[in-house]
Amino acid sequence: MKLYMDLHTHTMACGHGYSTLKENIGAAKEAGLQILGLSEHGPAVPGGPNKIFFSNYRCIPRQYGDLRLLCGAEANIMDLEGSLDLGEDILSRMDYVIASMHVVCVRAGNRQENTRACIKAMQNPRVKILGHPDDARYPLDYEALVKAAGEEGVFLEVNNASLHPESARKGGRENVKTLLLTCKKYRVPIILGSDSHICYTVGKFEEALGLIAETDFPQELILNCHPEQIDRVLAVNM
Ligand SMILES: [Zn+2]
Ligand SMILES: [Zn+2]
Repeated sequence: MKLYMDLHTHTMACGHGYSTLKENIGAAKEAGLQILGLSEHGPAVPGGPNKIFFSNYRCIPRQYGDLRLLCGAEANIMDLEGSLDLGEDILSRMDYVIASMHVVCVRAGNRQENTRACIKAMQNPRVKILGHPDDARYPLDYEALVKAAGEEGVFLEVNNASLHPESARKGGRENVKTLLLTCKKYRVPIILGSDSHICYTVGKFEEALGLIAETDFPQELILNCHPEQIDRVLAVNM
């Protein structure tokens, strides 16, 4: 299976990443990607970039030979209402937006509350990807989540880093399996993301691919396999 994009990567700018954008671009080319996404953490993550970082994206070239760069953010879901830590004034300047729940930003509710928070965040027309909906610390109702993602045109992410044995997000494997089986059942597409915090993991999806094989997940529902669809699926309908 050929995967052409990785839209979940971080750089040194987030305060807990270890590579530069240039290093990530080099790694993406080496991995044979056609599209790399810079998805820096929103400002609510301690040590993360401030708003000005995101509003200056216009200075970054978007094409490097055969590699296209998209500049976005991994915005933080801040409460159980699905509010984000970046407003429309900043989000509207980005190529795409991921929304995620992180323990440093939002306390977990019960399954119903977490699910509602994610669905509310996905209803923001700027949000195109829900990051790592696999964290056992934020239990989710996958039936409801998958149906809502299908309705909103949001891609649920299979996060390769969550599946790493040392990941802080526990329970990833079982939850990702449930997520994949539910997406397969309702024919809702997904995206694989490396969630790289260092260039050496950019474009690497081995753990995720293991579960894709295990669940016999259909290739036509994996966005990474369809780079020609990217402009259509990231288009914002306000
Ligand atoms: Zn994250
Ligand atoms: Zn991330």
